[in-house]
Amino acid sequence: MEVETTSPEETEAIAAGLAARLRPGDVVTVSGELGAGKTTFVRGAARALGVTAPVTSPTFTIGNRYRGTVDVSHLDLYRFEGVSAAEWGDLEPYFEGAVCFVEWPEAGVGVLPPARAHVRLRHIDSGRAISIDDADPGV
Ligand code: ADP
Ligand code: MG
Repeated sequence: MEVETTSPEETEAIAAGLAARLRPGDVVTVSGELGAGKTTFVRGAARALGVTAPVTSPTFTIGNRYRGTVDVSHLDLYRFEGVSAAEWGDLEPYFEGAVCFVEWPEAGVGVLPPARAHVRLRHIDSGRAISIDDADPGV
């Protein structure tokens, strides 16, 4: 599906809709240029999954892991060109037992577990267009 939002709050609400269908072990890639709203989307999803801690961009760390009604991980691979076996060793714990959102997933192609859903955000005149491909939308 593709929707348009005109505020961060609307983007967070769309994310909450996806979050309601997710469970631990699910991986969601979140793509789009800088400022497209990737972190805003993850924040909305994390809130909906019961995370009360501030959800901020992990650009200067590999990732963050939060406790909510389920655990939620938020990875940002912006600074990666690829993911080596050693780096995967650092990343793997974020995926275990958590719903895991991955910003800039391109570097992890072929290494990350298969994604349950792909989210793509882009700037449009009046706000953002958000497309969600959910491999398992019926659940
Ligand atoms: P990214 O992680 O893709 O770099 P962020 O979520 O950090 O993007 O930043 C997006 C910025 O755009 C935020 O300052 C947010 O408030 C703003 N913004 C404005 N309109 C929207 C919208 N419709 N959806 C998401 N973010 C929006
Ligand atoms: Mg971001």
